[in-house]
Amino acid sequence: MKAGIKSYKSAQERLNRYVRDHEMRPSKVRNMVLEQVLALPQPFTAEQLIETCAAEHISVGTVYNALNLFLDAHILHAYKRQEGQRATEYELIAAASNKIQMICKKCGRVQNVSATGITSAIKDHKFSNFNMQHFTLYVYGECKICRIKTIGRLRG
Ligand SMILES: [Zn+2]
Repeated sequence: MKAGIKSYKSAQERLNRYVRDHEMRPSKVRNMVLEQVLALPQPFTAEQLIETCAAEHISVGTVYNALNLFLDAHILHAYKRQEGQRATEYELIAAASNKIQMICKKCGRVQNVSATGITSAIKDHKFSNFNMQHFTLYVYGECKICRIKTIGRLRG
């Protein structure tokens, strides 16, 4: 999923606000890293970002510094999709709307599912001292393809 114009604007706004609130100096290179983040399919790994940034002559250290700042500024969130997966994946928080994703722990395949019952249950829930804006629900398990492979192995 590519990030739209809207998420570009809100991510940049969030970054500007964070930089201002923390009395940091705006950085052209940091903004360039954010542009690369927005151009990548979501989620992405640090390695993918380093690769696209290398083409823009942005150093690895700068990319990692920017990544950490984007996490602090709640522009990105980091997670591991598969058990024992080494590379952390990053995803734009701005790109998130209400969604439910099934994640296969064996192959990492991600599928968006619609489950209106669950969506409305979460939307209608009154969280104490918390005003929910949107959510992403990750459901972990084994996808159909991996399950067929497992059954095949058991029979074979
Ligand atoms: Zn699978």
